[in-house]
Amino acid sequence: KGFPRYDEITNYGESLGHGSFTRNFKGFKTDIRDGEKHVTPVFLKELDVVHKNCWESFFEAASLMSQISHKHLILVYGVSVLGVKNIMVQEFVECGALDLYLKRRRSVSVSWKLDVAKQLASALNFLEEKNIVHGNICAKNLLLAREDDPSQGSSPFIKLSDPGISVPMLGKDVILDRIPWVAPELLDAPEKLTLDCDKWSFGATVWEIFNNGNTPLLGWDLDKKRQFYESSQQLPPSQWTELADLVNQCMDYQADFRPSCRSIIRQLNSLITSDYVILHATEHITK
Ligand code: ATP
Ligand code: MG
Repeated sequence: KGFPRYDEITNYGESLGHGSFTRNFKGFKTDIRDGEKHVTPVFLKELDVVHKNCWESFFEAASLMSQISHKHLILVYGVSVLGVKNIMVQEFVECGALDLYLKRRRSVSVSWKLDVAKQLASALNFLEEKNIVHGNICAKNLLLAREDDPSQGSSPFIKLSDPGISVPMLGKDVILDRIPWVAPELLDAPEKLTLDCDKWSFGATVWEIFNNGNTPLLGWDLDKKRQFYESSQQLPPSQWTELADLVNQCMDYQADFRPSCRSIIRQLNSLITSDYVILHATEHITK
């Protein structure tokens, strides 16, 4: 897979705001296959010029994502380079980021959320089997490719986005700001990014999903966030004890105590959602 050339990317202009180190745009990718012109909408992330020293890490993220393929991982076409501009070209995901979607919708069913958590766990399992560390799992980096269509019995469909600039390249403040997603052991040793760290982030992301996309520790300053980890605190537990237990296991301050992906998937599969229970209860009554 070659990196797309800049002149194949058109309509580069509709701004979609900022990422941590990027400016985002919607665009279109044009390629000629079998003599036919194919136009595909794409999402473009242009690395900020002030973060130019991170370009290697940015390329690494793109190359990692373009080399692996899984239905719940975003498709990255490559990085387009024009002079000083480095632009990551990836598939355009219609419904955008999951945190924003959940905040907008407010009331999403428990089984919907559980579906999303299972999909993320399957992506995580795929990465674990390949021994690939993601390093930036959070609800903002889960993109919603399909809401759901109850009339067709179809469920939501998510894709995990690229990790962006890797943790060891980040400044201390950015790492502190990523509390509670960043694994606590990375505060003092950002280079110790391992598969265990993704488990912690998974726990924090599941917490977000089941809290309607509300941002945990919103508005806390960096000092307060650091103290949160230094005193080994936990996010407020879900009332659903089995779910709270799973989040707790993932967000264990002792990295090697965190569960394997197989265990996470097994636990998710054993969770019976309350709307499922309610559905069956009413069926029973109407019989
Ligand atoms: P970071 O590296 O910290 O994740 P980023 O550059 O990936 O930063 P984000 O803040 O994750 O930027 O994403 C910004 C917004 O862009 C998201 O909230 C989402 O709505 C939108 N977005 C990101 N990727 C896509 C995509 N592939 N398709 C459609 N929208 C996207
Ligand atoms: Mg992102």
